[in-house]
Parts: sequence; C-alpha cells; structure tokens
Amino acid sequence: DAALKLTGISKTYNLGRPNEVQVLRGVDLEVAKGEIVALVAPSGAGKSTLLHIAGLLDTADHGQVQIAGQDMTGLHDRRRTRIRRNDVGFIYQFHHLLPEFTALENIVLPQLANGAARKAAEARARDLLETVGIASRADHRPAALSGGEQQRVAFCRALANTPRLLLADEPTGNLDPATSDQVFAALMELVRGSGLSALIATHNLELAARMDRQIRLDAGKMTTA
Ligand code: ADP
Ligand code: ADP
Repeated sequence: DAALKLTGISKTYNLGRPNEVQVLRGVDLEVAKGEIVALVAPSGAGKSTLLHIAGLLDTADHGQVQIAGQDMTGLHDRRRTRIRRNDVGFIYQFHHLLPEFTALENIVLPQLANGAARKAAEARARDLLETVGIASRADHRPAALSGGEQQRVAFCRALANTPRLLLADEPTGNLDPATSDQVFAALMELVRGSGLSALIATHNLELAARMDRQIRLDAGKMTTA
C-alpha cells in the first residue's frame, strides 16, 4: 500500500458565494512507502490546503484520502483524530513549540499524551535531538534557541510518536538560505534514518532536487516536474 494516496481531491473556499476560489481541482497523488516527495508550487497555489487535507486537519469537498491503505472517508471523528495524532507528523514553517517548556519536554509531552512511559519518552527525545545535531540544547527553552534550532526541535516533535507519514509545509521557509540548507539536511537525515514516507512542500528548487521525486501543483492540478 502507498503511505499516502489522494484521489480526485477538490476544494473550493466560499462555496456558493460570488468570490469563491476553487483551489484544488481533482488532485491525484501518491507517496510510496519510504519515499520522500517534494510538492513544488508558488505561494497561493494551494499547498497548505492540500497538506491539511492529507493530514486530516481539513476536509475536501470531493475525493478520497488514503493513509497506509486505509480510506479516511466517513471515518468516525474519534478514529480520525487518533490517526491524525498517531500516524501523521506535521511540520509548519513556524515551529509552534510550547514556550514554557524545554526542547526536550516539547518532544516528550506528545509521547506522554500518547501513553508512553516518561523514561522511554526522554530517551527517544534525546536520540532525536542527537540525530539533528542539537543534543546539547535539550534543556533550553525555545526563546533561548536560534531559529534553525527551534525548527530542528519541531522536526523531532513531529517524529516523536513514530508516525507513518510526515507532512511538511515549507519546513525551512522562515530561515535564511545558509541556515535553511543545514536545517533541511538535518530533516533529510531524520526522515531517511527512520524510513519514513514524506510529502514536503517547498518553493526552493534546490531543496526539492534533494528529494526522491518532485510533483508540481499548477492551476489546482498535479503535474510531474
Ligand atoms: P499555498 O500554501 O500554496 O500558499 P494555500 O493553500 O494557503 O496556498 O491557499 C490557496 C488559495 O486559497 C489562496 O488563494 C488563498 O488565499 C485561498 N485560501 C486559503 N485558505 C482560505 C480560507 N480559509 N478561506 C478562503 N480562501 C482561502
Ligand atoms: P481555527 O481557529 O482557524 O479553526 P485551529 O485553531 O483549528 O484554526 O488551527 C490553527 C492551525 O493549526 C491551522 O493551520 C490548523 O490546520 C492547525 N491545526 C489544528 N489542529 C491541529 C493539530 N491537532 N495538529 C497540528 N496542527 C493543527
């Protein structure tokens, strides 16, 4: 089974109103198991909308979302929420870390919420921080970290509960070019090291070229790059 399969996804905002925007017009896409796919499109093309639908944060008007072979259409809300929390990791352009907790705690908390034991959760958090090269920052709060470090912590948090699928929306879009390059390399290290499947939106063509495959969102439809 594919890690993610979208079939005929359509989405219109302001449905039925005069100024409605049809953002997605029958999008088909597939991310194979272990594959890292770049979603390339200019700003406003609908990347965030597509990622939110794929990550069960929003619903499509038409079409089907399958995660690891399971159809998400018509699932009970509680089951949908569980899949969103356990099987999907989400990374935004901004880190959204909890400011009053340390880097380590930000990675530990989602594991505790998921029923993990504290000792095991801390060990996993330290492993993840080590993989992205900031083990020495474990006890710092977000405000004491650089933008690149904050984003690395956010990557670790997204992987904390070992999701099957990672969705990232311009994960290095807030960083200067040199930092962006290094932080992106850290993300690739994390994703490849865990054998995770990923769909990563970027408008940076150099970063896109480092992934396994590129797909383009153009006028609400997918085209191969
Ligand atoms: P991208 O992530 O590629 O920049 P988005 O998915 O954020 O694109 O937005 C695609 C289009 O949909 C844009 O024209 C945006 O203004 C519009 N849009 C996004 N969210 C909403 C919303 N909640 N209501 C109305 N229009 C929206
Ligand atoms: P709104 O107040 O506009 O309804 P929300 O507070 O639901 O928006 O969500 C704010 C942002 O956080 C949105 O981009 C949404 O997609 C995202 N989001 C909502 N729930 C989650 C979640 N459980 N995990 C990750 N992101 C989420």
